[in-house]
Amino acid sequence: MKRWPIRWKLTVWNTAVLILILVGFASAMLVVLRGHLYERDDGVMAEELSELLEELGRYATEKELVQQLEQRFSIHSHYYFQLLNADGAVLFRSRFLSKITLPMPPHPEELRGRVFQDLYLPRLGHYRLLSLATRNSQGMAFLAQVITPRATLDNEFRSYLWMTLGLLSLGGIVAAISGYLLARWALDPINRIIGIAERISAHTLSERLEVTNSRDELGRLAATLNSMFDRLHRSVDEMRRFSADAAHELRSPLAVMRTEAEVVMRNTRSLSIYQRAIEVNLEETKRLSELVDQLLTLSRHDAGLPSEPQDDVQLDALIRDVADRLETLAVDKGVTLSIHCDQPCIVHGDDIGLSQLFFNLIDNAVKYTPAEQSVQLSLQVSDDHVRVVVEDTGIGIPAEHLPRIFDRFYRIDYSRNRDLGGAGLGLAICKSIVESHRGEILVTSEPGRGTRFVVILPRYGNIDSGNKQGARNVRSME
Ligand code: ADP
Repeated sequence: MKRWPIRWKLTVWNTAVLILILVGFASAMLVVLRGHLYERDDGVMAEELSELLEELGRYATEKELVQQLEQRFSIHSHYYFQLLNADGAVLFRSRFLSKITLPMPPHPEELRGRVFQDLYLPRLGHYRLLSLATRNSQGMAFLAQVITPRATLDNEFRSYLWMTLGLLSLGGIVAAISGYLLARWALDPINRIIGIAERISAHTLSERLEVTNSRDELGRLAATLNSMFDRLHRSVDEMRRFSADAAHELRSPLAVMRTEAEVVMRNTRSLSIYQRAIEVNLEETKRLSELVDQLLTLSRHDAGLPSEPQDDVQLDALIRDVADRLETLAVDKGVTLSIHCDQPCIVHGDDIGLSQLFFNLIDNAVKYTPAEQSVQLSLQVSDDHVRVVVEDTGIGIPAEHLPRIFDRFYRIDYSRNRDLGGAGLGLAICKSIVESHRGEILVTSEPGRGTRFVVILPRYGNIDSGNKQGARNVRSME
């Protein structure tokens, strides 16, 4: 039964239960019917006997009585009588009983009312016996008995039994067929879902299941599978785009290195040309290893690593530290970097990840801010959350790019950024670091006037969905 398809299991269960109910019902009905048939037969027997008893009072002598009984009751097709006096002597018996001795009731002298007995007569079969003790009007005591064969009643009952068995078999067949059809009808939508789900592969992820009734179980199953396919489709698309973009990004520095090496190898060159080639290759190797590091960071985050932020991080000190590292870059560019992170603040997190997050944001701010302009860092602490703002008065980001700014390999203007050396992964990494800290990162920008990134982080560990709410509250404070 374990390995049977559900369709057959349902059919068998349905048939078995229905047959069980029908058998129970039919058995109860047959028992009641049998009782009724017995009652009816016993009633008729009693009536027949009362006819004989009516004769008892009519005649003064036993002889006259016996004569009368002989005339009326000695031959009968179904009922055979016997009359005994108080001494147990047989006064009258039907001819059928001439060679048969009927059993006496257990205590004839104490007999009150009617006593029915079933008896088996050898070679004749089953009979029903009714015994009745009575007195006539003269006070003489008699024991009257009548027997009748059970065969008629048994035959009648047997015909009802066969009819019931026939109906039961028919009911069983109907139950099996209806169970099978019912199971097929109920499972057909599932088979359709299986068929379509089997057809859907990485290449046909856009196909969807038909949702006929979104309120029933199958409709909900189809809708759930559809939303799963949606998610799968999105992530397969993202993966494809990611691999294509990654390959593309890796190809450019590799092509530069290869061409450089091939050109130099073609002829014997001066030392300075070899040096120049090695410099170019070193530059591209740096770019490559930076890219590979970024890809590695993203894949670690995708794989859920680091799973949970672990350390107590002094955030104000961490931001000042990162800003110090970028100070030289800012000074070289003529960008003023002002830091307002004096409020001590501890967050629960991964200090390496958080350093990278603020490094990317401040580095971008400095990169995309022209000389004589400024970059400001500020830190605001509330009970549950901390809000870090990295704001610049740089070139800004056009509104149409803002929604995609955190996508992987997304760059606003390839040529502009190529000079600055980014692969478009910096902000994607920032977003995944913030998310792994259960925080939020927001951006607002105005082209030509500057960009403002806001990072909202929960301050303590064991933070759950409540943080999102908290983060929203902080945002609404803005
Ligand atoms: P990259 O690693 O190439 O810098 P990012 O993911 O850090 O890429 O940034 C994506 C794009 O967002 C960049 O191409 C840049 O044009 C834009 N961007 C990021 N930060 C700023 C900023 N502070 N001001 C203006 N544009 C920015």
